[in-house]
Amino acid sequence: MNADLHCHSCHSDGVLAPSELAVRAAANGVELWSLTDHDTLNGLDEARNAAMQCGLSFIDGVEVSVSWGGITVHVVGLGIDPSNTDLAAGLTRVRSGRDARAQRIADELSLLGVAAPYENAMRHAGNPTLVGRSHFARVLVEQGYAADIHSVFRNFLVPGRPGFVDHLWTTLPQALAWIHGAGGVAVIAHPGRYRVSGERIEQLFEEFDALGGRGIEVVSGSHGDAEVRTFARLARLFGFYASRASDFHAPEESAVDLGRSAPLPDDLQPIWRSPELNERVICMT
Ligand code: AMP
Ligand code: MN
Ligand code: MN
Ligand code: MN
Repeated sequence: MNADLHCHSCHSDGVLAPSELAVRAAANGVELWSLTDHDTLNGLDEARNAAMQCGLSFIDGVEVSVSWGGITVHVVGLGIDPSNTDLAAGLTRVRSGRDARAQRIADELSLLGVAAPYENAMRHAGNPTLVGRSHFARVLVEQGYAADIHSVFRNFLVPGRPGFVDHLWTTLPQALAWIHGAGGVAVIAHPGRYRVSGERIEQLFEEFDALGGRGIEVVSGSHGDAEVRTFARLARLFGFYASRASDFHAPEESAVDLGRSAPLPDDLQPIWRSPELNERVICMT
């Protein structure tokens, strides 16, 4: 099964419209697809309709920004009901700090000489309530501060580098309460991206497990082979379901295209086969 359960549209920090993503996913052989924009459900209606047109099975999804133990952790909610009002209100709250944060990021980048960083980031943001670091990263590339998006995130916008501002998102218990309240299943996104020790990651997994979290992304666009092995081992250890994701954002930017991630290791339990999620799949066959 070619499942790709994590990607972004222009409603958050991707560049393609949901319907363009559906067409691309189908062309790349994806059979089961989920759109998981950051902190918004806005793209889901279009994505679901386009998936139907393209013959893709679809899962309504979202990627929630969480602050945990001094770092930012992303939790993907799969199979959520997009009409759930508590989830929608919660996400509105998570988004509400983004504009003030963007102003602070822009102030820092101005000091480096970046021209009109706020206005330019907003020009890239398809949804003004969802301006984020990717939009600033595109501005830095445009103005020649970095060769590509990945080198931006080595030298700017990350802790200890210019353009990083601390921000409090929501808590892990709150994010899981919203996801579960909307009938969804919670998955830790790209665990290999969190620059913390093995012990801290296990602590995160323990807390997540105790809160009813069910899965982790073992295969992700941001994981190399070593990370796939590490998180396959931890999925077995914790009894988590495994997810497979490209985390695709844009054709020219993303290392891994929709549906082109490595397969999950054979012995793992795919999250889409979990009974909870299985019944939320909008099936095309
Ligand atoms: P924000 O939610 O505004 O903090 O932005 C987070 C987004 O920045 C992520 O979802 C990615 O799209 C992007 N990002 C963060 N780190 C990297 C990285 N190392 N390489 C590419 N994109 C990154
Ligand atoms: Mn992103
Ligand atoms: Mn993420
Ligand atoms: Mn993502």
